[in-house]
Amino acid sequence: MEKTLFEKIAEHEIPADIVYEDELCVAFRDISPAAPQHVLLVPRKPIPDIAAAQQEDAELLAHLMLKVGEIARMLGIAEGGFRTVLNTGALAGQTVPHLHIHILGGRSLQWPPG
Ligand code: 5GP
Repeated sequence: MEKTLFEKIAEHEIPADIVYEDELCVAFRDISPAAPQHVLLVPRKPIPDIAAAQQEDAELLAHLMLKVGEIARMLGIAEGGFRTVLNTGALAGQTVPHLHIHILGGRSLQWPPG
């Protein structure tokens, strides 16, 4: 199967500003940032979206959740507050079919989102 864009970034085939990586996941700056700090955290495993995750992915998902806080601290946005977003499917505006967690911060964020 054709690699997703984020798989190619995770494998360093396409350049990105990587801020963190380990054996299970990669975090890199969004190419079109929606906030002063905007990082995408993706599993190396090409799960299309959160709704496609399976029980066998439980440990991987827990790993990603723990990394959210670690990366937010690293970016300096943990104390003031930040937002995580998982867009799923067309109605939510998902454009890349590879599970990714947006980590956004560095400004006041509105609620509810558009
Ligand atoms: P989605 O809309 O699917 O939730 O988010 C996809 C995100 O990926 C968007 O915020 C978009 O700016 C970002 N993106 C798309 N292509 C690239 C790319 O080639 N490099 C990086 N770093 N981000 C990308």
